[in-house]
Amino acid sequence: MSNSSLVSYTRLSPNHSGRRKYAITKITPHYMAGNCSVETCGAIFAPTSRQASSNYGIGSDGRVALYVDEANRSWCSSSSDNDNRAVTIECANLGDSSLTDACWKSLVALCVDICRRNGIPKLTYTGGKDGTLTEHRMFANTDCPGAWLHSRMGLLAQEVNKYLANGTTPKAGTGASATSTASVGTSGKSTALASGYHKDASFAGRYRCTVDYLRVRRSPSLSGTEVAHYSKGETVALEGYYWVSGGFVWGTYIGGSGNRNYIAVGKATGKAEPDDYLVRV
Ligand SMILES: [Zn+2]
Repeated sequence: MSNSSLVSYTRLSPNHSGRRKYAITKITPHYMAGNCSVETCGAIFAPTSRQASSNYGIGSDGRVALYVDEANRSWCSSSSDNDNRAVTIECANLGDSSLTDACWKSLVALCVDICRRNGIPKLTYTGGKDGTLTEHRMFANTDCPGAWLHSRMGLLAQEVNKYLANGTTPKAGTGASATSTASVGTSGKSTALASGYHKDASFAGRYRCTVDYLRVRRSPSLSGTEVAHYSKGETVALEGYYWVSGGFVWGTYIGGSGNRNYIAVGKATGKAEPDDYLVRV
């Protein structure tokens, strides 16, 4: 059994029953009843006192998080029978219960991926528990997944089935706030930058974030685990060396947790660029 490769953030919750009793044959999308980031939702599911979880979460920026391994039964839909069979997905929602376009696209992409990996031939929404696409409201007195998503469950099945039938793979959504894969420049170097570690005392100093959501990672790579983020206008003090990896320059510092963090400064062009994520203060 595997988890989705669409996941870009993982914070495993202790709130689950261990291995499923049944094979995965269903998907149950939920709404968060709030516009939570995948990090916030992960923090909500982290304490054992919460007694709740989901397998996946999707933010309004389209990012997909893993909270409970697919192999395990999450505590999500108020139904042991359902959650032993269903992959559960918490979706961030806006005030009117709607999902952003990015969140919806990632939901479609995640459902297609779950169906393919688990051999679910198609999603069926019957409005009842017998379908392979189920809702929390079928098992408890709740509005979940909210009026907007509830009214689109048939559409969700239709969209997912279209991709399952034609063999193509939909793209996950990306939102305006998910800009951190963009760029970094350095402090005016004019030569091409080789990949790897560069010691440069002149690189040390305080930098200001120019984008809405700049991810902090545990390793100098776009696939490094996300551990935090900076918002536009916030500043960070970087040390006197950097990495070049995946076309980006990565600065580094020791975070409040005592762990070493890495953050993309901009594209590795060898000089400062107008689209750098971090600029010198
Ligand atoms: Zn729910």
